[in-house]
Amino acid sequence: MKKVTKIGVLTSGGDSPGMNAAIRAVVRTGIYHQMEVFGIMRGYQGMIENDIIPMHSRSVANIIQRGGTILKTARSKQFMEPEGRKIAYENLKKHEIDGLVIIGGDGSFRGAQKFSNEFDIPCIGLPGTIDKDIAGTDFTIGFDTAVNTAIEAIDKIRDTADAHDRMFIIEVMGRDAGYIALHSGIATGAEHILIPETKTDIELVVESLIEKERRKKLVNMIVVAEGDEIGGANELSAVLKERIPMLDTRVCILGHIQRGGAPSCLDRVIASRLGYAAVEALIEGKHNQMIGVMNNKLHYTPLDKAVKAKQKVNAEWLKIVKILAS
Ligand code: ADP
Repeated sequence: MKKVTKIGVLTSGGDSPGMNAAIRAVVRTGIYHQMEVFGIMRGYQGMIENDIIPMHSRSVANIIQRGGTILKTARSKQFMEPEGRKIAYENLKKHEIDGLVIIGGDGSFRGAQKFSNEFDIPCIGLPGTIDKDIAGTDFTIGFDTAVNTAIEAIDKIRDTADAHDRMFIIEVMGRDAGYIALHSGIATGAEHILIPETKTDIELVVESLIEKERRKKLVNMIVVAEGDEIGGANELSAVLKERIPMLDTRVCILGHIQRGGAPSCLDRVIASRLGYAAVEALIEGKHNQMIGVMNNKLHYTPLDKAVKAKQKVNAEWLKIVKILAS
């Protein structure tokens, strides 16, 4: 087993709050173990462009509380091609980097998987995504902050919805995963929560709104994930306006505010724990694993399994939504 002595850390794909806390943990744990640590700028693109900088303990001072990522992030088309990955490898060799920590989502892990199959560099993935759509972990870095940002916004919308007896359709992020919608909807008492994981029965939604109207139950909010098959909030609003013309509805799309902002305590703590664990894993000779947390214990999943399986939405949650909104 080769001893890993020089490691690179990068953030890739969509940014998520808490990535900085993870970078800080990787850098400081590496330095604690007398390793050299390099920051790779703008994800895989920086690897290809040799935008690789030495990191010191002070380089990560005062970042644990900041959203975004000091290493920047990007999507790299070139890295999708074998030629691009070869250039990236040659650049790592120039710096003698012999281990990588990739903080990103399933796309980034797919890239890491290919890269490590082609070249002899162990890769450790840390789940950094607001969508929480990665198997093998109960948490992803950024989800807790994003969902808290969403509920803060939805609570505000609820005030005005209530004042006007108006219904709001609120669109939250989640192209393939409904976790932000599910959690923020439950936490704010939404009437319906529409997510990509389940088939949306628009007839049921219409019927239930008409029935609630009949018994004068105030209905003020539907939360829809942007990737629901009905479309986003605008599409849903158009359908409901046509079907129930007397309903006074407004649309609010929360958008990118869900990505930014200071990470929550949970995201900072998880990111710190995972960043530390990533370096320990490289020292122990682990390679091509994603590290997550399950049942409050570190959990290792081979990168290829982490990208193939998505987290499933527990059917009981959906039952809870229905019962609590009745
Ligand atoms: P996320 O990691 O947030 O899911 P993306 O899906 O955009 O974000 O992936 C981030 C980057 O990972 C891509 O821009 C690309 O460079 C790399 N990547 C994604 N999929 C692959 C793949 N199949 N092969 C090689 N690289 C990939």
